[in-house]
Amino acid sequence: MQRDLSVLWHPCTQMKDHEHWPVIPIKQGQGVWLEDFDGHRYLDSISSWWVNLFGHNNPHINTAIKQQLDQLEHVLLAGFTHESVIRLSEHLVQLTPQGLEKCFYADNGSSAIEAALKMSFHYWQNCDQQQKNKFVCLSNSYHGETLGALSVGDVALYKQTYQPLLLETVTVTSPDCFNRESGESWEAYSLKQFTVMEKTLAEQAEQICAVIVEPLVQCAGSMRMYHPAYLSKLRQTCDRYNIHLIADEVAVGFGRTGTLFACEQAKITPDILCLSKGLTGGYLPLAAVLTTDTIYQAFYDDYTTLRAFLHSHSYTGNPLGCAAALATIDLFKNTDVIGKNRHLSQYLWQKAEPLQDHPHVAEVRQHGMIVAIEMVQNKANKTPYPWQERRGLTVYQHGLQNEMLLRPLGNVVYWMPPYIITEEQIDHLATVTIEGIHAATQAA
Ligand code: PMP
Repeated sequence: MQRDLSVLWHPCTQMKDHEHWPVIPIKQGQGVWLEDFDGHRYLDSISSWWVNLFGHNNPHINTAIKQQLDQLEHVLLAGFTHESVIRLSEHLVQLTPQGLEKCFYADNGSSAIEAALKMSFHYWQNCDQQQKNKFVCLSNSYHGETLGALSVGDVALYKQTYQPLLLETVTVTSPDCFNRESGESWEAYSLKQFTVMEKTLAEQAEQICAVIVEPLVQCAGSMRMYHPAYLSKLRQTCDRYNIHLIADEVAVGFGRTGTLFACEQAKITPDILCLSKGLTGGYLPLAAVLTTDTIYQAFYDDYTTLRAFLHSHSYTGNPLGCAAALATIDLFKNTDVIGKNRHLSQYLWQKAEPLQDHPHVAEVRQHGMIVAIEMVQNKANKTPYPWQERRGLTVYQHGLQNEMLLRPLGNVVYWMPPYIITEEQIDHLATVTIEGIHAATQAA
């Protein structure tokens, strides 16, 4: 720990916190478990920042990476190609919503978003629509930390400091159902919120390149959720006004919301789809940006027209990452993961639902394999606890003392476990969560 703190600067961390709370060195991982050097174990209920799908140290993915390693560790993807990236692209085109025909690669979620924004903007340039230079995003959205991705996000904690550096974007009220009236359905509320989007697109269509959304769950924005009907409307309206729809499924892709891709629940195909995190089963940094043949063709021309998409990253389409992704896709194809998850998500709900009666829980919500529990100071009017009180931290610490890695987002405790979690482990997760919430909400 001391060696760590003398040389490391950790992500998303106020390093001074580690004067009070030690950083936890992990020795090994196995299935849902992480184990430290003192033999303490932690159930990874948040899949190590939402990346892990089939457990740590998964034999099938391990073997695939080892085999790839003995064959080819890396080659540049410009002018050259390799078997794993071709096979992965074939699978992704087949598995993602119909109409996405070409795969472009990047190496993390944020860089996938950057590529998507540039691709959309550049498409309109290539189509002689030079006036199109704006992006529309939802309030409370999150798309990553690089400057373009941060520009289309709306979580003040991450964004505010950098505001002077960012692109000007149009932010539209989110369909997030937390604020619906009691008795109002998710569908009715989300559709009601669409009127704001409709008006914005109607008024500014000439200037807008694309609308970017996180389908169904705004994950970093406190796991706020909405109804698929919003996405269906959005698809129709983007078509009507000649605007791209970018679906950021970096977090929700690969089964998290109950379907392989969240867009399926709205029966839509975005113009651009961003994938990362679970793409490699949580093993290696890789991202894919899928798009339609229409967008691809707008770049396809003689070199001298200078219409090509000259965007690249050194590790684009890295073979080890592609091998991990292919092994992950095998795991989906070889067993009915989505069907099995349907049962698991019902079980998760059964365990979380009683917390709805807790005097300091405003809402328990779920989309598939994602469950969130929102702690509030005042249940009647949903007044949040002041952020300075760091109530979530109490839940985190209670978790660590009880074999559990829970990492609340502010006052929102959530579960996003690997799909190999058992009912018994969910029982344990629920017990520790309930105790943690009691501990966090009892303190004055
Ligand atoms: N988009 C979404 C929806 C995300 O949740 C995240 C990461 N939490 C990103 C983009 C950025 O991905 P990365 O952290 O790999 O840059």
